[in-house]
Amino acid sequence: MGAIELDGIEKWFGEVQVIKGIDLDIADGEFIVFVGPSGCGKSTLLRMIGGLEEISRGTLKIDGRDVTSHPPSKRGLSMVFQSYALYPHMSVRDNMGFSLKSAGAPKSEIDEKVAEAARVLKLGDFLDRRPKALSGGQRQRVAIGRSIVRDPTAFLFDEPLSNLDAALRVEMRYEIAKLHQTLDATMIYVTHDQVEAMTLADRIVVLEFGTIAQVGTPRELYSRPANLFVAQFIGSPA
Ligand code: ADP
Ligand code: MG
Repeated sequence: MGAIELDGIEKWFGEVQVIKGIDLDIADGEFIVFVGPSGCGKSTLLRMIGGLEEISRGTLKIDGRDVTSHPPSKRGLSMVFQSYALYPHMSVRDNMGFSLKSAGAPKSEIDEKVAEAARVLKLGDFLDRRPKALSGGQRQRVAIGRSIVRDPTAFLFDEPLSNLDAALRVEMRYEIAKLHQTLDATMIYVTHDQVEAMTLADRIVVLEFGTIAQVGTPRELYSRPANLFVAQFIGSPA
């Protein structure tokens, strides 16, 4: 399960409106990518879905349940950030198991979930290492692993690859696509990178100053951009 419904979502910071009434139905298992230039509201919208930012107006539903005012822990979602924010003094194993341990899960369950996540992410040989003894790509995998162990309804990614060099970005993009196939979970992914958007998305949401300029499959946006802004952003010839 992981259908997410946004209905008239707005965000005001004081007098300034940065999200201007977003309506969007995300299907269970869908890979949705938010794209748009810096400052258009991608992170704010994602953080509102995740519960890290209050929703000023509108309704958010997950699997039909109104979660508009629910705290992050009650939404069943998991966020992966660009700054990996791993605990430097903990092993990979403990980093990945930390949230389950904090929630009081028994050790046997934590071990099982961490082993499964490590298998999916090919981190099995690194479980006893500290983050500083890992490459950038491995660290990002650990950050994703911390999300996987919690069996979230949906994964929220905010530019997870932007700190990586170009070669690693391509590799991790491929890893994330595989992860989506393996887990069959809903993914909402923010990027300002058109290539990432075009290769990962089932549907792309192009944001322009807090409104949706267009929603569609990569092919639809490329072949039938709604306006010049979308055409320029997607790089299509319109
Ligand atoms: P993006 O992720 O697309 O680059 P953001 O969602 O970070 O954009 O920001 C959207 C707009 O909201 C920007 O104009 C930004 O300056 C503004 N903004 C973001 N967070 C805050 C905040 N806490 N207080 C005031 N304005 C904010
Ligand atoms: Mg952002």
